[in-house]
Amino acid sequence: MIYWATLVTNSQQTPQPRVESGAGRLLAPHRERCKPAAQRLLLLGHSEADVTAVERALQGLAVTVASCHSVQQALAQLRQGPVSLILADTDQLASLDSLRHSRDRHHSPVVLIAAADRDIDQLLAGWDGAAVDCLFKPLNPVLLAAKVELFLTLEARCRELEAAHSLLDQRQLQQREVEQRLLRLTEHDALTGLANRIKFRDFLTAALHDTDSGGDVALLLIDIDNFKDINDVLGPDIGDSVLTEIASRICTESSAGDLVARLCGDEFAVVLPALQSATGVAVLAARISDCISRSISVAGRDTRVTCSMGISTRADTRGSVEDMLKAASLALKRVKAEGGDNHCFYSEKLEQHNLQRLEIERRLRELVASGHFELHFQPLIDSGDGAIIGAEALIRWPADDAMTLGPDVFIPIAESCGQIKALGEWVLNSAVASLKNWLDSGLVGDSFKLAVNISTLQLMDQQFHSSVKRIIDRCQLPCSYLEFEITESAIMYEPSRVIQNLNKLHGLGITIAIDDFGTGYSSLSYLTRMPVDILKIDKCFIDGIGLITENEAVVRAVVAMAHNLDLALVAEGVEKDTQRRFLIDNHCDYLQGYLFSKPLPEPAFVEYLRQSH
Ligand code: C2E
Ligand code: CA
Ligand code: CA
Repeated sequence: MIYWATLVTNSQQTPQPRVESGAGRLLAPHRERCKPAAQRLLLLGHSEADVTAVERALQGLAVTVASCHSVQQALAQLRQGPVSLILADTDQLASLDSLRHSRDRHHSPVVLIAAADRDIDQLLAGWDGAAVDCLFKPLNPVLLAAKVELFLTLEARCRELEAAHSLLDQRQLQQREVEQRLLRLTEHDALTGLANRIKFRDFLTAALHDTDSGGDVALLLIDIDNFKDINDVLGPDIGDSVLTEIASRICTESSAGDLVARLCGDEFAVVLPALQSATGVAVLAARISDCISRSISVAGRDTRVTCSMGISTRADTRGSVEDMLKAASLALKRVKAEGGDNHCFYSEKLEQHNLQRLEIERRLRELVASGHFELHFQPLIDSGDGAIIGAEALIRWPADDAMTLGPDVFIPIAESCGQIKALGEWVLNSAVASLKNWLDSGLVGDSFKLAVNISTLQLMDQQFHSSVKRIIDRCQLPCSYLEFEITESAIMYEPSRVIQNLNKLHGLGITIAIDDFGTGYSSLSYLTRMPVDILKIDKCFIDGIGLITENEAVVRAVVAMAHNLDLALVAEGVEKDTQRRFLIDNHCDYLQGYLFSKPLPEPAFVEYLRQSH
C-alpha cells in the first residue's frame, strides 16, 4: 500500500476560493497544461467552515469542486462523470464503507481528512490503496493546495496514459488489420481468391509433416484442357470468368479441411491433408471432372471445358513437397498424352514409363543429330490399270538399333520434344534425294509422285516453305513430283497460318493430300478454303468393306464428294481383293495397301519398281 501521511497541524491564510455546494463549478482556469479544465474534485462530509477553508486553499487550481454531505450524494456525483479526487472527512461521516466498495467510484483516489489525534494506520486500513493519503485537521491551506495539485496532476497523467494506451490499442488493431490484408494478398490469388502457390506450398509442407492425422496426404493437380482456345477465341476477360467459375466449382466439391489453390494460369490444385482411402480422392476427382465439364455460362454464352488431373499421395512418393508435385505432374502429363479429360494416379509403373520415354527422347535426339533413320516406300496404285503412279515415304527407326519403335510412337514424341522440324527436314531431304535418283535412272516417269507426311507443327512453322524450297532447289527437282500429306487436325490450330503456308507450297506446284480423311475435324468447310488436290480415305472405312454396310456407304459418299469437289481419292490400307474390287467398282482413283506391297526399304522398292516395268 502506498500513501503519503502528512500531518497538517496549522492553518494558513490564503485567498478566498468560491465553492458551490452539490452542483460543482470551476474555480479558476489555471495551470491547464497539467490538469485539464474538466477535472472534478469532490468534498465529502465537510462542515461549512471546512468547505470554506478548502475553497480558499484551492483558489489557484483549475478544478471544479462539488461538496456532498452524504456518501449517497457523492455516489450520485460519481455517476455523472469521472472525479479526479475525493476529499472525505472521516469525522463527519459514520461510515465510508459504501463509497469504499462502490463501483461508481471507479479509480477516483480518496484522501481522508481526520482529527489530529486519529491513528493513521487504522484510518487507512482496509482501503486497499484506494485512499492515497490522509490529512489531519486543522488543514494547512498551503500543504492542502500542494497535495491536491499533486494528486490532480497524477490523475491527469493517468488519464493521459489511459488515452495513450487506448490510442496504441487502436493503432495495433489497425496494424493487425493491415497485416492480415497483406497476408491475404501474399497468400491468395487475386483473380479467384483461392490460395496461391505460396500458401499451397506451406499447407502441403505442414500436411506432409503432420503424421498425427493417421491418414495419407493426397495432391490433385488439375489442368483445364485446351484452355488456350478459350482465351484465343473468346478473349481473356471471358477466360478469367471461366477460371473464376471453375475455382468456385472445385471449392464446392472439396471438403472443409482440404486446400484448393490456383497454381498458375489454368492449373489448380487440391490438397487433401487427412485422406482415409485412395477411393476418397478418386471420388473427388470424378466429382471435379463432372462439375467442370458442366456448361459454364459467361456473358450470355455457354462454354464447355474438360480437365485433366494427376494425383499423387504421400504413401506412393518419398513424401516431400517436390516429390508430391513431380509425381502428380507426371501423372497429369500421362493423362494429357492420352488426350486429356481424365485422371491418373502416380505409380512406380508410371515412373518407369516416364524413364522409358526420357530414354526414347534421348535416343531420338541422337538419331536426329546423326540422321541415322531409314525411309521405306509404299507404292500407290492406279485403280484403273494397276500401274504404280507413286509412293508414300514412311520413316523407320533404324533396324540395327537396340530399340524398336514404330513411327506412330516416335513421331508424336518428336513433336512433343521439339525434334519434329529437324526430323521432318531429314525425311524430306532423303525422300527428295531418292526420288532424284529414281528419276535420273529412269525408274520412274514424269507423272510419278512421291508422298511425304508432314506434321502439323511443320505446317505452323513460318520458315517451313523456305526450307522446303531450299531442299528442292538443291536437288534441282521440279515440285510437281512431290505430294505432301497433312491431317485434318492441321486446320484446327492457327488455320490462317496453315492455309498461308499451304498456299505457298501449292504455289510451288506441290500436290496437297488430306491424310486419314474422315477421322478428324468435323467441319468440311476447310476443303473449299484450302488448296487440296487429294483425299486419302482412312483405313478404318476400307476395313469395313464387305462387312459393314455403313462403311461402304461412307466410302461411296466420300468418292462422290471428292469428285464433285474435283479432288482425287486414294484408299489406304487395302488388304483384300474384295476391297480392291469394291473400290474399283465405286470409282476410287488410287489404291494403297498390303495387297499391293508393304512399305519397303529403298533397295527392295527399287526392285519392285524394276519388276513392274
Ligand atoms: P499414315 O500416314 O496414315 O501411314 C499409313 C500407315 O499405314 C503406315 O504405317 C503404313 O505402313 C500402314 N499401312 C499401309 N498399308 C497398310 C495395310 O494394308 N494394312 C495395314 N495394317 N497398315 C497399312 P506406319 O509406317 O507405321 O506409319 C504410321 C504413321 O506414322 C503414319 O500414318 C504417319 O502418320 C506417321 N508417319 C510415318 N512416317 C512419317 C514421316 O516421315 N513424317 C511424319 N510426320 N509422319 C510419319
Ligand atoms: Ca500418310
Ligand atoms: Ca493415313
